[in-house]
Amino acid sequence: MDSKQFKEAATSAIDEIVSYYDTIQDRRVVSNVQPGYLKKLLPDGPPQDGEAWADIQKDIESKIMPGLTHWQSPNFMAFFPASSSFPGMLGELYSAAFTAPSFNWICSPAVTELETIVLDWLAKLLNLPDCYLSTSHGGGVIQGSASEAIVCCMVAARDKYLRETTSHLSGIELEDAIAYKRSRMVALGSDAAHSSTQKAAQIAGVRYRSIPVTKETDFALTGVALAEALEQFKAEGLEPFYLTTTLGTTSTCAVDDFESIASILSKYAPPDVPGEIWVHVDGAYAGAALVCPEYHHLTTAFKHFHSFDMNMHKWLLTNFDASCLYVKKRKDLIDALSIMPSYLRNEFSESGLVTDYRDWQIPLGRRFRSLKIWFVLRTYGVKGLQAHIRKTVKLGETFAGLIETRKDLFEIVTGPSFALTVFTIVPKVAGKGEQDRITKDVYETVNKRGEVYITSSVVGGVYVIRVVSANPLAEEKYLRKAFRILVETTEELRDGRVP
Ligand code: PLP
Repeated sequence: MDSKQFKEAATSAIDEIVSYYDTIQDRRVVSNVQPGYLKKLLPDGPPQDGEAWADIQKDIESKIMPGLTHWQSPNFMAFFPASSSFPGMLGELYSAAFTAPSFNWICSPAVTELETIVLDWLAKLLNLPDCYLSTSHGGGVIQGSASEAIVCCMVAARDKYLRETTSHLSGIELEDAIAYKRSRMVALGSDAAHSSTQKAAQIAGVRYRSIPVTKETDFALTGVALAEALEQFKAEGLEPFYLTTTLGTTSTCAVDDFESIASILSKYAPPDVPGEIWVHVDGAYAGAALVCPEYHHLTTAFKHFHSFDMNMHKWLLTNFDASCLYVKKRKDLIDALSIMPSYLRNEFSESGLVTDYRDWQIPLGRRFRSLKIWFVLRTYGVKGLQAHIRKTVKLGETFAGLIETRKDLFEIVTGPSFALTVFTIVPKVAGKGEQDRITKDVYETVNKRGEVYITSSVVGGVYVIRVVSANPLAEEKYLRKAFRILVETTEELRDGRVP
């Protein structure tokens, strides 16, 4: 494909993409193909001779579209959104055009420097304490996912804990102490923390324990629960070194009680004293709300913690992937993740005057992801981002209000919180397991119909339905439609009429 052909192909592709977005609400939101559908539609191998773009493009509609679940559809109310926007897409386009695995500053100074600048902009917008800025001892780095961010932080925490608690030892004593400690070290999260913390512990080779949370605290971790757990772990001879706290848990968008957690830790594992517990704040989804001043009080305790992460690609109009990780002391991350083989050495890295983001992440190569963040921040402006968050939060309140009007059919479990409403179906006849059964039936039937897509979860042992109104294209009429479908399906199933 030469540049002229590229221009024609790109124009045609953009036309198709624009038309896709303009009509996306009319497509069935969840794919209903059967496993293996695509193998039947594609040849056994690539063509011997290259094909024309027009022929390739045709297969998008006929072969790929049927197997897509349309995350950008306003009828998508499942999981958390994976937002997309036109400025975000333009960022991806330029990133592809400039493709370079810019692992060191000299590999493309603009890639590193723009990342540092936009992440500092974002840190201020999110009201993170100054210690997370690059102008202090901290800084931000774009990761591919919140899960990778947690792995990096846990590894940094593990190494820091071992280094600081064994610094008085040497030789065989040091080796023995490290081996023993590694077998006792435990990473913590609450029952409601995302599974990525448990996975990170598997990767980091440490134990994982979750701390129970209950309806009484709205499924948020509190200092009291943490203190109890720490006492118990101490009695078992375990050594807690890392804790994930959450701003917006996956099931219910609960916000852990950061102030009381900080206060308990100042007694049990005081910050800046060897053996302190690294506290990560996982704001993968709801962290985006911090662009609005009405949520700024939530960050007050972050100065006592060690890292914070939010995915701009969930709720902040930026295409996947843009997980923004901030650390209070970049040295902790770099100490754990830096290696310097001879082929990566260069005068700029050795000068100590530049940032080499390869030392802040798992892979070596990295994409130019800050471009799309820059485009999004500039296109929407602070006010535009705030308007998006407020609009979708309000839609969540509207939806929850509708649910409240049918107390005969629905019972709210939590929320609306950060555009998420969690509820159960009220069974027609009381009986053991009836509520879970009907809620599951309604959930599965609604998704089978495919007009809207919602998710379920289990919260405090109860089967629940989650509806999220944070999609970039969300509008009241789609939430009203979801409500109507939920009412119809519930009434049909409660009456024994299978829809
Ligand atoms: N943390 C929370 C609170 C989440 O809800 C999710 C996913 O939805 C994750 C972490 C994992 O995100 P990622 O896919 O970026 O690893």
